[in-house]
Amino acid sequence: MAIVIQKYGGSSVGTTEKIRKVAQTIISRREKGDKVVVVVSAMGDATDDLINLAKAITDNPDKRELDALLSTGEMVSSSLLAMAIKALGYDAVSYTAYQLGIKTTGNYGKSLIDDINETKIKDSLDEDKIVIVAGFQGINEDGDITTLGRGGSDTTAVAIAVKVKGICEIYTDVDGIYNVDPRLYKNAKKLDSIDYEEMLELASLGAQVMHSRSIELGQKYRIPIYVGLSNSDIKGTIIKEVNNMNMEGKPVTGVATSDDDISVTLKELAVDINILADIFDTLGSNKINIDMISQTAPFNNKVNVSFTVPKDDLNECRSILLNFIEENNISMDTDITKFSIVGIGMKSTSGVAARMFKVFKENNITVKMITTSEIRITCSIKKEDKMKAIELMAEEFNL
Ligand code: ADP
Ligand code: ASP
Ligand code: MG
Repeated sequence: MAIVIQKYGGSSVGTTEKIRKVAQTIISRREKGDKVVVVVSAMGDATDDLINLAKAITDNPDKRELDALLSTGEMVSSSLLAMAIKALGYDAVSYTAYQLGIKTTGNYGKSLIDDINETKIKDSLDEDKIVIVAGFQGINEDGDITTLGRGGSDTTAVAIAVKVKGICEIYTDVDGIYNVDPRLYKNAKKLDSIDYEEMLELASLGAQVMHSRSIELGQKYRIPIYVGLSNSDIKGTIIKEVNNMNMEGKPVTGVATSDDDISVTLKELAVDINILADIFDTLGSNKINIDMISQTAPFNNKVNVSFTVPKDDLNECRSILLNFIEENNISMDTDITKFSIVGIGMKSTSGVAARMFKVFKENNITVKMITTSEIRITCSIKKEDKMKAIELMAEEFNL
């Protein structure tokens, strides 16, 4: 008898009607003989609604209190789902992070799961209960509620799968992983499987279908992650080690875009590696994720340094920078899209960047910053060029 960990995202439990439907699906799985643990997200847009409530009180809500507030979304959906299952005649129990001992470390709003005491889950399964877990939340070393970052319920599900050695299934509003976000590009194609490394890049670069840390966990503990449509038999996508270097095939597996970053330029900074090291060290220790760092050649012993940061960290980033540099030497550009092509095939194919830049040049798409890894190329482009860039890359790399 396998232990199956199923995760249902916000849109799948968006109404009480949908919660009842999910309850039936869970029960059918239970009827097949599996032990079922379910991780749920908050109903529909509940998390956004809670953020808006906090913002109606203050522009800069206290982080501890904000996490306490946001964690309530998943408490509502998990209790309702347990009620729905019980109403259908099966035994179920819902647990919060506190009740399960989901220990976290790190900052509010982006904490990391340190450990989970899986005993309670196993005991409840042994008592023939369906276990429902509130996703996205944990308890830190001070006993405070923390959240894992937007989309973090995926990570709760994979972490539980690791601890109970279960099968992990993520159910959402799309029937698998596509090579481009199907909401953006109607000709996107579904993938049967995708390698952890590729999925991790796509998720970190804007494919919000999976929380990137859930992929890191899956890769680290070698847990395959199935992604599929809620309440449906349509075959989805497996995220696993694919071990396929695309011998015949495409250098590019997928495209990811993100409008959630801004680019920051520090102008006329003295050429001094100590200053740069201090700036990045302070941003890093405040858990502000810096990406796409680039620097101009020195002129009169001064350089301009640019990088991107998540929009949500804008205020914190600005106040940290002001400790090092005058306000009028900081410029911020909000009109950027981070556009990435990703593929393990790039490891064994040369000239991919050249093809990308040639097509962009021929179509007047201006590239502002570029970063690469072994399996991806990321450019910052103007937001208005995003759709054109997707179509051009899909055509160029036969996606
Ligand atoms: P949930 O609420 O179930 O966690 P999310 O909204 O977080 O769902 O993720 C599902 C959405 O991710 C889809 O509706 C889809 O538009 C988007 N998405 C982005 N990139 C991809 C991709 N490459 N493949 C599939 N879906 C993607
Ligand atoms: N409810 C949280 C969010 O909206 C967590 C999640 O959906 O996974 O970000
Ligand atoms: Mg999600």
